[in-house]
Amino acid sequence: MMGKRVYDQNYGFQTRAIHSGNDIDGETGAIKRPITMANSYELPYDPTNINWSSAGEALYTRNGGANQQYLQDKLKALEGGEDAVVLASGVAALSGTFFALLNEGDHVIFSNITYIAVYRLLNELLTDKYGVESTIVDTSDIEAVKAAIKPNTKLIHVETPGNPTLKISDIEEVAKLAHEHGALLSVDNTFASPYNQRPIELGADIVIESLTKYINGHGDAMGGAVIGPKEVIEKIKAQAMINLGGAISPFNAWLIMRGAATLPLRMRQHNANALAVAEYLEKLPFVSFVAYPGLENHPGHEIAKKQMPQGFGGVVSFGIKADHDTYNKVVSYLQVITSAVSLGHDESLIVFLGEDDERQYLYPEAFHNGFYRMSVGLEDVEDIIGDLKQAFEKAGLYEK
Ligand SMILES: *Cc1c(COP(=O)(O)O)cnc(C)c1O
Repeated sequence: MMGKRVYDQNYGFQTRAIHSGNDIDGETGAIKRPITMANSYELPYDPTNINWSSAGEALYTRNGGANQQYLQDKLKALEGGEDAVVLASGVAALSGTFFALLNEGDHVIFSNITYIAVYRLLNELLTDKYGVESTIVDTSDIEAVKAAIKPNTKLIHVETPGNPTLKISDIEEVAKLAHEHGALLSVDNTFASPYNQRPIELGADIVIESLTKYINGHGDAMGGAVIGPKEVIEKIKAQAMINLGGAISPFNAWLIMRGAATLPLRMRQHNANALAVAEYLEKLPFVSFVAYPGLENHPGHEIAKKQMPQGFGGVVSFGIKADHDTYNKVVSYLQVITSAVSLGHDESLIVFLGEDDERQYLYPEAFHNGFYRMSVGLEDVEDIIGDLKQAFEKAGLYEK
């Protein structure tokens, strides 16, 4: 469905972010493609031969709408993949990938640090309901990944940087290992975004993005994408989108398309602001630890530098030497930074993750007393740091 102009990999990343998937509207001459909210598309004279479960034909929005298609073209160009599917959320993209690739009796290895729904899907739902076998592995340790591989291992799923501890796994190394054993590698690239890290270029087979985060970037639309080989994407379209019903709303696809045009500009600011916040926090005597892959003392810093050449993203996790109530007090004093989940929004967000997370046994020791996950936004960095400082002061932390 691309128009006359094709913005392929010969163009730079910023050019692709702006132009890929957009074209002159054939009907009006408008230089931005319109929002097509219609549920259905006109049928041909004789519709009786149409496969009602097929994707890609102009048929019904759950089989693939126009705005979804434009966004798929943009994401394919940004990630450097063969094909792409856009779905209703990041979790729809994750579950769609696992559902398409794993059958009863197959084995999957996944990172010990992942988005919570990955843990639910691969440690509970697919194992308990569908007889898939899974192993949780510290994927930053290549020997541990190697040791976990079985003859029936079909997929390795890595999240890097991992949510919420910012653990870094080496995509190139895990890809080599997966391919030596006939398995596929999928990477959740949500924390990095394709501006900072492009897993397919590093050898991964499949990339998953929560578009809800950096790619939309404005905190006002949910979406998810899978980018990878055509045969995998076709399967996900047939299953997760058409028969499980995870289609994205055309309006959300349009919003995300609009947000994605400024992804490179926004990521540069997120990268710079988060590094400054991490460096500020690191020097405070009452801060117990700072996890940010851009800091030299981060255990994954060297690998992060190699696979995230533009920067390390906007998420910083950190702890303070304080009790549970002080953690909440600090948040209540913030005036610029908002207490809310999610990340990659224009505004800074913070969430206090307490002491009794059920997956705490998978986190490093430092995280066991509770910690903050902060998504550093695009505000003036002086205001973000100033806001933290006044909240720490009000909570009496500077006096200790
Ligand atoms: C938020 C998030 C998801 C889930 O995306 P939704 O759009 O909320 O469904 C998946 N992976 C990571 C790393 C995330 O941060």
